[in-house]
Amino acid sequence: MAKAKPRKVQPKKSGKQKFVYYFGGNKADGKAEMKGLLGGKGANLAEMVNIGLPVPAGFTITTEVCTWYYANEKRYPKELEEQVAKALKRVEKEMGGVFGDPKNPLLLSVRSGSRASMPGMMDTILNLGLNDETVKGLIEKSANERFAYDSYRRFVQMYGDVVLDLKPKTKTDIDPFEEILEKMKHDRGVSLDIELDAEDLKELVRLFKEAIKRETGRTFPDDPWEQLWGAIGAVFNSWMNPRAIVYRKLNDIPSDWGTAVSIQSMVFGNAGEDSGTGVAFTRDAATGENIFYGEFLMNAQGEDVVAGTRNPLPIVQLKDKDPKSFKQLMEFRSILEKHYREMLDIEFTIQHGKLYMLQCRVGKRTAFAAIRIAVDMVKEKLITAEEALLRIEPDQLNQLLRPIFDPKAKMRAIEENRLLAKGLNAGPGAASGVVVFNAEDAVKFAKNGLPVILARIETSPEDIQGMDASEGILTARGGMTSHAALVARQMGKVCVAGCDPLKIDYKASEMRIAGRKEVIQEGDYISIDGSTGEVLSGQLPTLPSEVLQVLIDETLDPDSAPVYKMYERIMRWADKHRQINIRTNADQPDQSANAVAFGAEGIGLCRTEHMFFGEGKIGPMREMILADTVEDRRKALAKLLPFQRKDFEGIFEAMNGRPVTIRTIDPPLHEFLPHDDKGQKELADMLGIPAAKVRERIEALHEFNPMLGFRGCRLGVVYPEITEMQSRAIFEATVNVLERGIKVLPEIMIPLVGHVKELKSQEEIVRRVAAEVMKENKTKFKYLVGTMIEIPRGAITADEIAEVAEFFSFGTNDLTQTALGVSRDDSGRFLPVYVEKDIYQRDPFESIDRPGVGFLMKYAVSGGRSTRPDIKLGICGEHGGEPLSVEFCHDIGLDYVSCSPFRVPIARLAAARAALKNPRPNTKKAAKKKSKRAKK
Ligand code: PEP
Ligand code: MG
Repeated sequence: MAKAKPRKVQPKKSGKQKFVYYFGGNKADGKAEMKGLLGGKGANLAEMVNIGLPVPAGFTITTEVCTWYYANEKRYPKELEEQVAKALKRVEKEMGGVFGDPKNPLLLSVRSGSRASMPGMMDTILNLGLNDETVKGLIEKSANERFAYDSYRRFVQMYGDVVLDLKPKTKTDIDPFEEILEKMKHDRGVSLDIELDAEDLKELVRLFKEAIKRETGRTFPDDPWEQLWGAIGAVFNSWMNPRAIVYRKLNDIPSDWGTAVSIQSMVFGNAGEDSGTGVAFTRDAATGENIFYGEFLMNAQGEDVVAGTRNPLPIVQLKDKDPKSFKQLMEFRSILEKHYREMLDIEFTIQHGKLYMLQCRVGKRTAFAAIRIAVDMVKEKLITAEEALLRIEPDQLNQLLRPIFDPKAKMRAIEENRLLAKGLNAGPGAASGVVVFNAEDAVKFAKNGLPVILARIETSPEDIQGMDASEGILTARGGMTSHAALVARQMGKVCVAGCDPLKIDYKASEMRIAGRKEVIQEGDYISIDGSTGEVLSGQLPTLPSEVLQVLIDETLDPDSAPVYKMYERIMRWADKHRQINIRTNADQPDQSANAVAFGAEGIGLCRTEHMFFGEGKIGPMREMILADTVEDRRKALAKLLPFQRKDFEGIFEAMNGRPVTIRTIDPPLHEFLPHDDKGQKELADMLGIPAAKVRERIEALHEFNPMLGFRGCRLGVVYPEITEMQSRAIFEATVNVLERGIKVLPEIMIPLVGHVKELKSQEEIVRRVAAEVMKENKTKFKYLVGTMIEIPRGAITADEIAEVAEFFSFGTNDLTQTALGVSRDDSGRFLPVYVEKDIYQRDPFESIDRPGVGFLMKYAVSGGRSTRPDIKLGICGEHGGEPLSVEFCHDIGLDYVSCSPFRVPIARLAAARAALKNPRPNTKKAAKKKSKRAKK
């Protein structure tokens, strides 16, 4: 939300200022755009009058008065009184009653309203203007004594609570007014309020006033004007009550916005059986369906509908009770939607058969409804496709892409105290299954047809197969870019990471949760929500995604998939507007194919180390790591070469001519070795060496800070033969796939470069091998050599690095880790607290830290371009799929973002929104390039 410019309050000039805005009949001083001055409520009331809807007349005191009030020791500008009196005169004229008149009293409601909705900031006061005299006039006018006294006692109760502060002081205190009411019912031998008669209610008024005097020492004011100014003061005071201050802080609402006060003549939904009141949404707020959705009660006031003392009826039934009002309401619904071009939340009252609108505002809705409403409104020509794109938050697309828990079942589970803990929402979606604590068991249980949740303290590459076999992954440690989180996202698995309260005991095959009694054992059902980070006990039903059934599983015909069609339309609009390309992080042919189905235009990161864990590959890999001599290492590498080549061929084929960035091996070597005795023994047997030797070598490879250690290009610098083998595998695969008539565009990427000479040493190997492969095969192919920018030195010396690099890809996982000095694997312990305390507004591993990491990126962009103006720039850190970071990447001029396959649609939408908000100049060329690729 934008911060308000501090408003200068100049009391001396206030003589010219308009502090009070009238609305009523067919004339309003204000309009919808004046939310800053009139608050949401006041502005919308004025707007409804302007478009001809029946609104009980009233006026709004501006937010500027609130600011003035606080700047001037809680006094009012001197003209206010006169402006209020004048406006009230107009209200009286319009409504045909007189404020304070004992014969024909006009009654008022008083409400607060700031420009942003602040639910529950101040309660409404209704029926203001009643006293022992005016109540008689109300009895005469309504010919209903009970109704009049009921209105009176409600007024005294609300006024006593809100203005005179007679309310429960602690959570366990009973409301003093309720206490009196309950006693009265008990004495009369009745159970419902409605069973009290006029005399009882009259007595209640007396008892309420007496209690106010006794408990607060203040006298309930009989003078209607005193009542009114008391209420106005209470609204302004409520702006600084602790609840409001906390709410503003949480929602980034500046305190100098102030609140307005809307004062409106009362109409009575409880004036008889021909009266009523209700609330409605112009469309279904849960599903987005274009149906009128709401409820009402006859002979009731607003609070009866929400209080739950009587059961409200569905709005369609108003058709039978009051067909005229129903018809009118349907017309108003359509007028309002056409005018506001939004789904609205409305309140109405019927008084003796006449319908009045009391409020309208943009309606809150579920993510699913938001998408559906935006798409439908474009079809209905209410809004443009561009507006629809700006109305759909990219993350809301997860509702269409991922399985979700049946919302009712989840709510019930939480009520049953089955919410065990909360971790990081690392991989969206919902999964329910039996819990296992190691990868082998995950595979075993899955083979038996059971859905599995793999729970680990943290995961490592050894767990890949188990992760693949599981529906969901849960870890106790690790942040948003920990191994578990990024591999899960790439695989499209549900993941909750860094769930600190979990105490996992591998030996006992069980886990406990801090602060709870139960013990969860292997084989017990648990459910994890990767969109919220929640972990629940037991099984929960999930709803599958239509989009996946069409695009990935190919089990559903698009023509019978309305949700898919909705998705498809949004993506079409997004692609028309975005100005950057969207690639994917994938290292398996099936992942690549998924990503293409989701619209990926290339691979931005293929982590080759992920390819070493498949069937038959880990053996030679370990042999290579444990080799003592270059010769032995070369022998092992020669065994790996055909596997790598085949993997690359699979990916090139799946990507069908789209560019593929392949990164040379990156993680520290110890990650590929077994860490348990059994595994080490097996390895020793396989290699025909003593187990002690294996252990020794593993210990030698041990590092205290492996993430800052012997990894990335450092491996290739020390063992050039590894880079050599990988380059050969890439280029031989290129030749083979080209021979099959498929275009290939490999981009070889060197990780963790901080010095241009590191890159140079690797580039020379890559180019030499490329030349050899071309020569051996008597052919030519195109390729690029580039680097990741993922440590600060690389970013700072980007101009030098660009002498060699044909492209940069920002590795913002490592760049965040190194720029902040925060280990990406251990941050789960404290970063959530940092976010809670607003030290970082968001987890920097999730959303780019713009002033720090973002600064380095911008610096590197300009450094790179200064040396090589046409350098290709992208990002492949996990931030590449996070909407705010995608926007940042658009803004600083990157050519593409790369993200996990299931986030591709989110990135497409985020990129379109970024382009709509801040279009880049000179984009014709980029757009052309994009559409050419999309056609492939
Ligand atoms: C990165 O550091 O941002 C990156 C993409 O590489 P990895 O996560 O594999 O270290
Ligand atoms: Mg990295």
